[in-house]
Amino acid sequence: MWSWLYKTVVQRNSLPRVAVSACLLGQAVRYDGCDKYTVVIAHELKKYCTLLAVCPEVEIGLGVPRAKIRLTQVGKSIKVLQIDDSTLDFSDQLHNFADKYVKQQSLDGLVLQDRSPSCGIGNTALFSQAGVQIGNSSGLFAAKIIELLPRLVVVQANQLQSKSDIIQFVEKLKSAS
Ligand code: SF4
Repeated sequence: MWSWLYKTVVQRNSLPRVAVSACLLGQAVRYDGCDKYTVVIAHELKKYCTLLAVCPEVEIGLGVPRAKIRLTQVGKSIKVLQIDDSTLDFSDQLHNFADKYVKQQSLDGLVLQDRSPSCGIGNTALFSQAGVQIGNSSGLFAAKIIELLPRLVVVQANQLQSKSDIIQFVEKLKSAS
């Protein structure tokens, strides 16, 4: 019995550690108080990985619900500013949280919600200070983690839509480890 228990504990501990946008796992942490529950991530991926739910906006102290924020080009920098009060700038807080998070967690992978000013990867709307969309970029939490851990296996939720997508992602995690 004890050898079985030991084996089970070792197997659990050896699963890849994957941070996931908390809204994808069903946590109601979006600005509007809703979630983005995605069953294939919450149930299929969980069979192969230890999932670590994270919502960077909640972690930096923004409430639920909260005012909308967006990526804004300010000079040469991309900032995360509140839409109805652009004096509120959350960029440093998101960067600092990403820095702290990667030091605290020993991550093998990352699954992030699309088009978010914090979590999006390359597909989040970028606005001028006048409020005109001028392109797309990455959310600041995502961008900072990728800068700090360039070899991390990272996907957006829209790339994990089926069981076969999950298997491919898990294979990538294995070959990267
Ligand atoms: Fe989901 Fe990320 Fe937005 Fe939080 S910050 S609600 S985890 S997309």
